[in-house]
Amino acid sequence: MHDVLYRALERELADGETSAKLHLGEVVGEYDRLDGVAYIDAAVLVDQQPIGKSHRSNPIAYIKAFDHVRDVFAQQPLAQQRGYGPGHFSFNVKGGRCEACEGEGVKQIEMVFLADVFVTCDVCGGARYKRDVLEVKFKGRNIREVLDLTVDEAIRFFIREDRLGQMLWQLQQVGLGYLRLGQPAPTLSGGEAQRLKIARELITAAKKQGHRLYLLDAPTTGLSGTEVRKLIGVLRRLVDLGHTVVLIEHNVETMIAADWIIDLGPGAGAAGGEVVAAGTPAEVAAAPGSHTATYLRAALAGRAAR
Ligand SMILES: [Zn+2]
Repeated sequence: MHDVLYRALERELADGETSAKLHLGEVVGEYDRLDGVAYIDAAVLVDQQPIGKSHRSNPIAYIKAFDHVRDVFAQQPLAQQRGYGPGHFSFNVKGGRCEACEGEGVKQIEMVFLADVFVTCDVCGGARYKRDVLEVKFKGRNIREVLDLTVDEAIRFFIREDRLGQMLWQLQQVGLGYLRLGQPAPTLSGGEAQRLKIARELITAAKKQGHRLYLLDAPTTGLSGTEVRKLIGVLRRLVDLGHTVVLIEHNVETMIAADWIIDLGPGAGAAGGEVVAAGTPAEVAAAPGSHTATYLRAALAGRAAR
């Protein structure tokens, strides 16, 4: 999926609008034909790479919802009285952030022979903001305390902020309701980073023109049954918007939700083996010689019974 499909599409679509950067020098895997490129305007690889190495990067900023939070704080009477704008509640620009740590909340100590060490900033105590900015409160919480809220808590907290609420709801839909809004990007797992990327795509999907092909690598990894069903609903929304979703997946519930399955095997080798069967879930479930077929039959029977 990465080395053949994505790379080939990247090359084919290089002239058009694509969020993919050309990786010069990267080899495109061998293939005979690439059909249907005319129906796609962009290919988007939603992988498990981290969303950033900086402590400044976090879930709320990544989905571009931090602007709304800062606006809410800038509208509070104390902020207006003191002339604070939304920028005062940012830790990326000068103004309200702690200058000792430049809003990171931590200081990096370079070690000569060891990995760098992060220690809590001794000026702000990890709060990232100046004390007077932290005096501004919305519903009893300052900006630092809001960044400590989980997505689930923040949805209730910002119940009257429609746009912000919708963006946070999208994070909940991809199974990230437990994340703290200000959780530093380097602490997120690969699976969390991938689901965050899916949420951002959904938030911005309505504004984007054209048909996009989304490529995902095992997005259900680490999710519970309920969360898997939510995620399938989320992926269906992308399809309803006119996009196409291709995923590598071992989760049977997700497989039977697909229009088309390509079963690679036998077993799960590094290169995926050979094509064992291809077709609709019902067709692959009836395919001889497919190990997956057994599981598909059980899942399809279970769905029929429900
Ligand atoms: Zn500081």
